[in-house]
Amino acid sequence: MVHLLERGPLADESLRPIMEGGLLLQGELLYRIGEYSDLWQEAETLQATIIELTSDFVALPGFIDVHTHICFAGSRAPDYALRNAGKTYLEIAEAGGGIWDSVQQTRRASPDELTRLTVQRANRHLQNGVTTIEVKSGYGLSVAEELKQLRAIKTADGQTAADLIGTCLAAHTLPHDYDGSPEAYLAEMAQQLLPLLKQENLTNRVDAFIEQGAFSAEQIAPYFAEAQQLGFQLTVHADQFHAFGSRVAVAVGAASADHLEASGEAEIQLLAQSQVVPVALPGASLGLGCAFTPARRLLDAGASLAIASDWNPGSAPMGDLLAQAAILGTFEKLTTAEVLAGLTHRAALALRLTDRGQLAAGLLADFLLFPVADYREILYQQGQLKPAQVWKRGHCVYPSAQKI
Ligand SMILES: [Zn+2]
Repeated sequence: MVHLLERGPLADESLRPIMEGGLLLQGELLYRIGEYSDLWQEAETLQATIIELTSDFVALPGFIDVHTHICFAGSRAPDYALRNAGKTYLEIAEAGGGIWDSVQQTRRASPDELTRLTVQRANRHLQNGVTTIEVKSGYGLSVAEELKQLRAIKTADGQTAADLIGTCLAAHTLPHDYDGSPEAYLAEMAQQLLPLLKQENLTNRVDAFIEQGAFSAEQIAPYFAEAQQLGFQLTVHADQFHAFGSRVAVAVGAASADHLEASGEAEIQLLAQSQVVPVALPGASLGLGCAFTPARRLLDAGASLAIASDWNPGSAPMGDLLAQAAILGTFEKLTTAEVLAGLTHRAALALRLTDRGQLAAGLLADFLLFPVADYREILYQQGQLKPAQVWKRGHCVYPSAQKI
């Protein structure tokens, strides 16, 4: 596949797949991509190991899930049942369910248990082709418990072949046991937690949930200012139910604005004229039974678009990124190129990663081999077609014993 534009609509003709292609790897990087016959000679000269695939495969860059909450303990199946029985997300949260339930269950988990659960979910994602996974905290909601979560994410990163990228989401919601105002809580997190995250090199990303029942734009402003002062990259849970957050994302120059189900024309135009990457989270729409992110309108306005799973115990328990992306494409009328770019190249942009997301020389050798001849089969099968092989940093990590 060729270099794709970073923003705006993408026609499938722009993909131009290489037929009879090959990949030449050097260490953890892609060295050359081209026609197999051209690469063969170079591979022999370099005395490279040659793996010849005799049946049909489509190679794609490893998927990048830019928004997950997979570091959690417990289940929220009761919430799901209540919601389907007619209770709203906000009603469940106000009744003491929702995020607070996951906070309590996650606080009760030991660091080892939390690491184990995170690795388990990351490996399931990896097997389905997700080679880079952003993982948020936000079920700790105190200095000590947020540290526990972000340390567990870092430890988990060392125990899975996938790359885990931690993000501090201490500004997820005001914890019920906090004795003070939202402003005081955020000030405490900014002063006591954020410097420790830098010291321990746990993350360079800070996220906030800007929403009714979470934090207002005004409350988040000083918190984000302090985070930026410390050098953190920002990202925002924006416009999920009300169009509050995208303006903040644009104003602070966030890497991404995620959700956007409630974005109207004004927000779409604002995002399209900014460098912020909009992130659609179809798993949350499927989990909550609500509208999808206006992906088509964002692209047509000239914005970029990444697609992520939002895998979390409450609103998005499925955690199947490819299935969700395929379904979003169906409802939002996205081309195959737009969906695949949203899982790869444009997803890398949302994390400001320049070393992955495309099959290009010099980038990480993170790629997937799907057992089909036509790349359109991948979305057509709506997540049921899994990669036959997953390669991460130059190694075949699934199946673990490399065999065709
Ligand atoms: Zn989220």
